[in-house]
Amino acid sequence: MGGSSDAGEWRQAARRFADEVVRPAAGQIDQTDALPAEILDRMRPTGLFGLGVPTEWGGSGGDTRSISGVLEELAAASPTVAVLLSVHLSVCTHPIFAHGTDDQKERFVRPLAAGRALGAFALTEPSVGSDAARLSTRYASGPRGFVLNGAKMFITNGARADVVLAFATRDAAQGARGISAFLVEKGTPGFGTAQKLDKLGLRGSETNELVFQDAQVPARNLLGAEGEGLKVALGALSAGRVGIASCALGVARAAFETMRAAAIADPSDARRGEVARAFVTLSAAQSLVARAAEEKDAGRPYDGFASAAKLFASDAAVRIASHAIDVAGPAGTQNGADANRIFRDARVFPIVEGTTEIQELILGRTLVGR
Ligand SMILES: Cc1cc2nc3c(=O)[nH]c(=O)nc-3n(C[C@H](O)[C@H](O)[C@H](O)COP(=O)(O)OP(=O)(O)OC[C@H]3O[C@@H](n4cnc5c(N)ncnc54)[C@H](O)[C@@H]3O)c2cc1C
Repeated sequence: MGGSSDAGEWRQAARRFADEVVRPAAGQIDQTDALPAEILDRMRPTGLFGLGVPTEWGGSGGDTRSISGVLEELAAASPTVAVLLSVHLSVCTHPIFAHGTDDQKERFVRPLAAGRALGAFALTEPSVGSDAARLSTRYASGPRGFVLNGAKMFITNGARADVVLAFATRDAAQGARGISAFLVEKGTPGFGTAQKLDKLGLRGSETNELVFQDAQVPARNLLGAEGEGLKVALGALSAGRVGIASCALGVARAAFETMRAAAIADPSDARRGEVARAFVTLSAAQSLVARAAEEKDAGRPYDGFASAAKLFASDAAVRIASHAIDVAGPAGTQNGADANRIFRDARVFPIVEGTTEIQELILGRTLVGR
C-alpha cells in the first residue's frame, strides 16, 4: 500500500497486523518486560515505519489521520508497540524531515522510514521535565563539531534507537535561546545508556537513562540552526501529542471492550450503567482525537486541539480502565488478567509527552492568550 494516504486502508492494515502479530503477544510483552524482535521484523515490510514521510524519501506517505488510526489500532492490542512507533515517527523521523538538510534526510530519514533504523527523542533530564527551557545537558564546540555532556531520563526507545534527536544548551543562562537540536547516532564516542527503567505500565517499551560524556557529535548532525532547538522540540511534541492521544484512545478502547465482555458475561443494571458511561467517555475521546488530526491535516493551528485530545484521551483511558476492573471483579485485579495490564498501561499516558497540567496550560493559552 506504499504511497496510499487513505486513512481507512491504513487503519485496516494496522488492525490486521495487530490481530495477527501484536495482540497474541501482548500478555507476554507485559510479563517479560521485553518486546520480541520478531514483532519489529514483521512490522518492517508493512510500511508503518515510514508513515507520514513522502515516497520520494523512502516513506509510505499517509496523513495524520492515517497515523492516528494506525496508532489507535496498535495500542488497542499493545500500547508498547504503538508508543514505539509514535515516538519513532512523530518526535524523531518527522522533525528530521521537517528541519533537516538533504544530507540529513538521506542519512537519517531514509533508513528510519524504511524501518532499518529506529528513532528516539531525548528532551527530559533527571531534574528537568515540563520546564524544558531549563535543560542542563551542555554542548560546546569541539574538534569534530560539538561535544555534549549531561544526561537524559525516561527516553522511550533510548537503548534500542539508532538515532536520538537530543537537545542541549550552549549556555543555560540563555534559557530557550541557548538550546540546539542534535542527531546523535548509536555508537557515537562518549554516548551510551546508563539504565533501563522498570515501569508500572507500557512494559516492554524501553525507557532509558542516556548519558553524554564528552560525546563527539559531528557538525553535520546539528538539526536546524543553533539556538532553534526548543522550537524544534516543542513543534515535535505538538505533533507527537496527536500520536500519543491516539495511543491513549486505543488503550481506552481496549479497556472498554474488556469491560463490555465482562458485563455481557454477567449482566446487571449496575454493569450496564458502567458500560454506558464508558461508551460516552470513549466516544468523546474519539471525537477529540479525530478533530486534532483533522485540524493538523488541514494545515490549521492545532496545538490546542492536540492538547485537548491528549489530556482527555489519556484521562479516558485511566477512568475506563479503572472501571473495567470494577466490572471484571476480583479476577480483573489478578496478574495476567487483561484488565490488570490495561489499567497499568493506561496510567502512564497522563504523563508521557507532557502531563495533563501542561496540556491545560497550552490549551488555556490558545483559548485565553498568554
Ligand atoms: C513511560 C514514559 C516515557 C517517556 N518518554 C520520553 C521520551 O521519549 N523523551 C523525553 O524527552 N521524555 C520522555 N518522558 C518524560 C515525560 O515527558 C516527562 O515525565 C513529563 O514531561 C513530565 O516531566 P517530569 O516527570 O519531570 O515532571 P515535572 O515537570 O517535574 O512535573 C511534576 C508535576 O508538576 C506538574 N507541573 C509542572 N509544571 C507545572 C506548571 N507550570 N503548572 C502546573 N503543573 C505543573 C506536572 O504536571 C506534574 O504533575 C517519558 C515519561 C514516561 C513516564
